[in-house]
Amino acid sequence: MTNRINDLKRAVRSSFCTPVNRLLNRIDPPVLVLLYHRVTALPSDPELLAVTPDNFRAQLRYLKERYPVLRFEEEWEQQAKPAVVITFDDGYADNLLEALPILEELELPATFFITTGLIGTSQEFWWHELERMLLNESPLPPRFTLEDGRYGQSWPAGSREERAEFYGGIVRLMNDSDSSQRESWLNQIRHWATHQERSDDMHRAMTPDELRLLASSRWVTIGAHTVSHSRLSALSLEAQREEIFASKRQLEVWLGREISTFSYPFGRRADYTRESSGLCREAGFTKVAANFPGQAHRWSDPYQIPRHLVRDWPVETFASKLKGFWTR
Ligand SMILES: [Zn+2]
Repeated sequence: MTNRINDLKRAVRSSFCTPVNRLLNRIDPPVLVLLYHRVTALPSDPELLAVTPDNFRAQLRYLKERYPVLRFEEEWEQQAKPAVVITFDDGYADNLLEALPILEELELPATFFITTGLIGTSQEFWWHELERMLLNESPLPPRFTLEDGRYGQSWPAGSREERAEFYGGIVRLMNDSDSSQRESWLNQIRHWATHQERSDDMHRAMTPDELRLLASSRWVTIGAHTVSHSRLSALSLEAQREEIFASKRQLEVWLGREISTFSYPFGRRADYTRESSGLCREAGFTKVAANFPGQAHRWSDPYQIPRHLVRDWPVETFASKLKGFWTR
């Protein structure tokens, strides 16, 4: 029943929105900002972050044949027809090793938003460390109990299904935590799993040298994406300020150039606040990317530019998804 009501709501919404959006698109040609994270082939990808190099190349060729591909930071107002922008979040090493050669081959620009705290450390992004500890075949104790005055709880971890549920639950909790709380919980899980050694480096971030190499390409713009990839809306104003300002400062030290763009970690409307946007403006960022679907127009807020997530879609699926994006 609920499903049927939701279907009906969706139908009403889209029959209403589509003509309105078509009209707006005639008044002002929209810009579609696409969001990627990784270009590589992974044995498992529970967060659906990776696009294979073949699919990435085919998607980009499709874009290049049909649309102007603009840079995120440039002025879009003069654009006479609908255009697209390519962006990447987080700063994985595969951005340099696998995405950049394809961008250069096709001569297409992209902006990479970098989480500075992991650049040059051997640390993985915390969600990959959890994935490695929890979603594998090796034996684990049957149950994990999170010791925390407020969020303490317990998960069974015997079967594959239980581990998947544990993983989902702890990721949701960590999404709302700050970096010190998250580190203390991660330590508890590391201790419990006694699984401290790294199995490989397929999930690593770039080193500072790799970042410099990426930034030296004429097709690349670098933007900031906080220090620790925390959900800004869960932080105090001071902690938000530090995350936003320090990531900009660090990138400017590494690259010797001004960093003028930023993207919010996670990026849904609940993941940042009006204060976050204010701090971005104060830090000197001129355009900031969010992560909810939509088109950018002349009248869009430059401190929360909508973006469409791209998954590992073969080009036919990509083409049909893109048709939908133009009417959102
Ligand atoms: Zn991110």
